[in-house]
Amino acid sequence: MARVFNFNPGPAAMPEEVLREAQSELLEYGDSGMSVLEMSHRSPDFEAILHDAEDTLKKLYGIPENYTVLFLQGGATLEFAGVPLNLMKTGHAGYLVAGNWSKKAWKEAQKYGTADLLASSEDTHFDRTPRLAGPVDQSLDYVYICQNETVYGTMTKELPDTGSVDLVSDISSMFLSCPLDISRYGMLYGGAQKNGGPAGITVLIIRNDLIEDCPARADICPTYMDYKVQAGKDSLLNTPNTFGIYLCGKIFHWIERTGGLEAMGERNWAKIGKLYDAIDASKLFRGLAVPEDRSISNAVFTTGSKDLDAAFVAGAKERGMVGLKGHRILGGMRASCYNAVPPEAVDALVAYMAEFEKDNA
Ligand SMILES: *Cc1c(COP(=O)(O)O)cnc(C)c1O
Repeated sequence: MARVFNFNPGPAAMPEEVLREAQSELLEYGDSGMSVLEMSHRSPDFEAILHDAEDTLKKLYGIPENYTVLFLQGGATLEFAGVPLNLMKTGHAGYLVAGNWSKKAWKEAQKYGTADLLASSEDTHFDRTPRLAGPVDQSLDYVYICQNETVYGTMTKELPDTGSVDLVSDISSMFLSCPLDISRYGMLYGGAQKNGGPAGITVLIIRNDLIEDCPARADICPTYMDYKVQAGKDSLLNTPNTFGIYLCGKIFHWIERTGGLEAMGERNWAKIGKLYDAIDASKLFRGLAVPEDRSISNAVFTTGSKDLDAAFVAGAKERGMVGLKGHRILGGMRASCYNAVPPEAVDALVAYMAEFEKDNA
């Protein structure tokens, strides 16, 4: 068996020890006599798995008492609709558009109400995060951001000042990358498949007083997407992705064991920082995001030549490094350096970049 260095943007690398643990429990979980895959979602064994995952996540982020954690399905994409359906109380929200994910969310919100474009960085091809030009209309239902734009490799490091308007953040590609002050948000959510688990789980963290008023669009909100219903049923309205939640729980424990989010954040910046240093020192490669807004997770770069980029990606694959092809919108290369990507993977990539540069100078 040879496991490659996996730079996939999502689904992405998972910790090998978590995969091994899951493997060792695949036929029988504890002394239940069955696999988690075969277990009722209403059984005490599964309820314990669910509550343990929830509690571990609360500990990792230091989630305040007045917030609820939900494990849903439909990916981050379904929440592009879930957010306005639940939170557009007056039918008017504001969006910051930093890339394709926030743009999709903004477009989807327009189906359900008025979604103002408060700021966008599209005029500079999303090479940075947009900044608010002035104070935010305090009557807005919420202000929406995508905090790490996976395709463009940018990250919002300083949250926009929205006054008393609640902030809603898509944190899919920085979920569990580093600590966050949860109390600064009304709601955060993300697909787990980037950094927190397998595909098929959306983790949602929402303040309880917001749930009280959900769903804003009771007339049309599907029961499944009603946050109040989901919270009341503890994510067990219907059959959840049981095995996915089990794996998420294992990953949360792995993060806890390896020092928690503070240590994870430091390791992640050190790891991807080496790659950014290599890009900055290179005469061949250049980064596509402005340095101050660079992502903790996704480094995007190019040689400026389609052919050379393709040759680089192909050469990397021969050397056991995969997932480096840039998103089809942007081209070039993207190295997603999530939690489970070891520092050795980035070291190998940096070494190959130097070799490639020498051969193609
Ligand atoms: C991947 C991604 C999405 C889409 O996630 P799905 O789970 O596939 O719907 C949304 N937002 C961000 C920031 C992402 O990285």
